Amino acid sequence: MNFCSNCGSEQLVFKVPEGDTYKRFICGNCKTIHYQNPRIIVGCLATWEDKILICKRNIEPRFGLWNLPAGFMENGEKAEDGALRETFEESRAEVDIIKLHAVFSLPNVNQVYLHFYGRLKEPKFSITPESSEVRLFTIDEIPWDQIAFHSTTFALEKYIEFGPDYSGVHIGSYEKKKRWVN
Ligand SMILES: [Zn+2]
Repeated sequence: MNFCSNCGSEQLVFKVPEGDTYKRFICGNCKTIHYQNPRIIVGCLATWEDKILICKRNIEPRFGLWNLPAGFMENGEKAEDGALRETFEESRAEVDIIKLHAVFSLPNVNQVYLHFYGRLKEPKFSITPESSEVRLFTIDEIPWDQIAFHSTTFALEKYIEFGPDYSGVHIGSYEKKKRWVN
């Protein structure tokens, strides 16, 4: 932070506020404490019969790699609505959400992914400005060496390992070179 987003002052100090545990940017002028917290990314692992909907990224980062449709949750939005919105924006697919599938934390980049499991209402989808290709993959066709993000690899691996009827939620994380263990 270079200046206070509340009053515009450049008098920011980075210190632990009284009674707090973590360092925060505090404005020396208006005394506002600027809390910075992880961002939530919501998306869908959506299926049609035995196939999974995956999008080829037409945007950076990881341009040209495959990913489950997902994106940043908006203010004023429910997580599941954000997942449906992002899925539609990236693939024009409409999905019925069945359950929360995976929670995947990336503490190094301050992100948390929520992937919901759902089924396509109908096998209808298309390319979008965000996706140069959208298609349904059988498990054997998944391009494992061209997956954009660890969160997608995790969600796909757990779906394949436990199947669509598993009622639990898979919890994973990625920190630097450490891979998930559960
Ligand atoms: Zn201020």
